[in-house]
Amino acid sequence: MKLSRCLYFSAARPDLPFWQTAAEIVGASQAGNDRMELTGALLAHDGWFVQCLEGLPARLTRLLVTIGADRRHSGMEIIEFGPAERRLFEGWSMAHVELTPLMKLKLGQTFDPTAWTARDLTALMLDAGRAA
Ligand code: FAD
Repeated sequence: MKLSRCLYFSAARPDLPFWQTAAEIVGASQAGNDRMELTGALLAHDGWFVQCLEGLPARLTRLLVTIGADRRHSGMEIIEFGPAERRLFEGWSMAHVELTPLMKLKLGQTFDPTAWTARDLTALMLDAGRAA
């Protein structure tokens, strides 16, 4: 299977309840992603969404177009899209990862994914996923 991975961040719509919206998105994503053999994780923090998605490149592209048109967020910026040797979120049609109190402490007051590299954001999501 030709595998790709993508990572993007976006800003949640401020007039919607953040946590509820994130939970709804994750819940609604799982069946569709499972069907499309897509795996990944969504981190929702400080009004930001960071999502990692893995699967066949054409399916990823199609889903990214759909997600990009979703009015529940804006300013979607894809910071990584390319071939992957293996899945990092194997077994997760969509993991909802949250930062632990210790991670929040290390991050400091604000979380600004625009200042992060794709590699560091992915590592943060994996750490949060492992801690869950
Ligand atoms: P519909 O469910 O018909 O929705 C059409 C539009 O209505 C949406 O684009 C949205 O703007 C709006 N809408 C839908 N539900 C609500 C709601 N509860 N409140 C307010 N507005 C709403 N989908 C996946 O399948 N897999 C994913 O991994 C995935 N990740 C996402 C990550 C983020 C950050 C966001 C914002 C959305 C994500 N989605 C994901 C949802 C995706 O954008 C589509 O809503 C979903 O795929 C269903 O597609 P649809 O064409 O049936 O849209």
